[in-house]
Amino acid sequence: MAKASHWHALRKRVHLICFLIFIALPFFNVIRFDIPRQRFYFAGRELWINEFAIIFFTLMFLMFLVVASSVFYGRVYCGYLCPQMIFSEASMALESRLRRRVTRKFIAWKPAARERLVRVLFYLVLAAASVVLAFIFISYFVEPRDLFHRLASLDIRTAGGIAGASVTVLTFLDFALVRLRFCTTVCPYGYLQGMLGDGHTLLVHYRDDTHECIECKKCVRVCPMGIDIRESPFQIECVHCAECIDACDEILGKLKKPGLIHYVWGEKGPLAANSRQPWDAKRVIVLLILLGYASGLVIAMGMRHSVLVQVAPVRATLYKLEADGRVSNRFRYSLSNRSPRPAAVIFSIQHLPDATLALSPNPIPVQPGATVQGEFEIWRPGGSVRDPVSHFTIVSSTLPDQVTDSIPMTFLGPEGK
Ligand code: SF4
Ligand code: SF4
Repeated sequence: MAKASHWHALRKRVHLICFLIFIALPFFNVIRFDIPRQRFYFAGRELWINEFAIIFFTLMFLMFLVVASSVFYGRVYCGYLCPQMIFSEASMALESRLRRRVTRKFIAWKPAARERLVRVLFYLVLAAASVVLAFIFISYFVEPRDLFHRLASLDIRTAGGIAGASVTVLTFLDFALVRLRFCTTVCPYGYLQGMLGDGHTLLVHYRDDTHECIECKKCVRVCPMGIDIRESPFQIECVHCAECIDACDEILGKLKKPGLIHYVWGEKGPLAANSRQPWDAKRVIVLLILLGYASGLVIAMGMRHSVLVQVAPVRATLYKLEADGRVSNRFRYSLSNRSPRPAAVIFSIQHLPDATLALSPNPIPVQPGATVQGEFEIWRPGGSVRDPVSHFTIVSSTLPDQVTDSIPMTFLGPEGK
């Protein structure tokens, strides 16, 4: 744990890192759901919407990460990592900084005129920041370059443009008017936390067995949620930001006394500064589940083929007898290149004597992100077809990955030919 009285500075550093991560995630395709292209990006890989296993494990892993952090560390996500908290505090800090500057510079003005100037300046800066934040947020769902072109052409006719304008307005209203009220009204996480936490979950707690509190109420004044932590550590408004810890440490520090508010492992648990998280069966199970989803995700990613090859027989006509006595079957293929590199697929046949594959070109080129569909025929001399159903294998080899797939298939022909 960090040294007491430094929670505010630590939190601001974490907020800055989170903000940088918030920007980087969509721009580097670390995590992004591209709605127009129906693609899911994870760890730089482009996943197609039909790659259900990977998307499932990713979403379950992220969901359990939130559950695990709530069981272990309570509402630390709210105080340290949540974008609503980060930008609400930033907008409040901006407003009070502007107020201080305007007051200093225009000391001769009437207070009402100064306040009008503060509001105008604040709304201007917030409007520009809302455009940037909305741009970053929508980049999670629309390719950033495409989004930039829409923004540059002031597009408010297409669905993407309307979504961008709406998110900008909502962002502006959120950080101008709602701010931290969001945490206690709209956001369900605070209520969820009540269900996930237990007797060992990290809490901000006021402890004063020897009646050292000097009733200065500094802890109440600094609380961004406007509550008194001395009443209960389980107030739904408390986001575990630790501002009250710093405040009490500072004020009692001047009297050479230790602060009365601390991070603790549960209401009756030890101070977090002096001990580690207590372990129990619940925590082990939560970690094992998290590990299970992480392993599933790694395995699913490892088994992923960059080119999805699908082959199916065309059975509108079971088989065709050519004029020269040959028997032919028709097949349909679909090749989807899910990698950022050009690829090619070569088809061949195994376990079907005397068969000829009528396919051109072979290898079939597939551009990045493209799906190529087509049909081919397999011919056999009439004399080779002895059974109405012959089992064989279509082999697909993908270049440059050198991945080979064997697809079991049947060849149909007339009986006893
Ligand atoms: S800051 Fe500390 S001393 Fe002051 S009222 Fe709060 S708990 Fe009491
Ligand atoms: S009570 Fe303390 S930890 Fe809780 S929100 Fe207020 S300042 Fe933050």
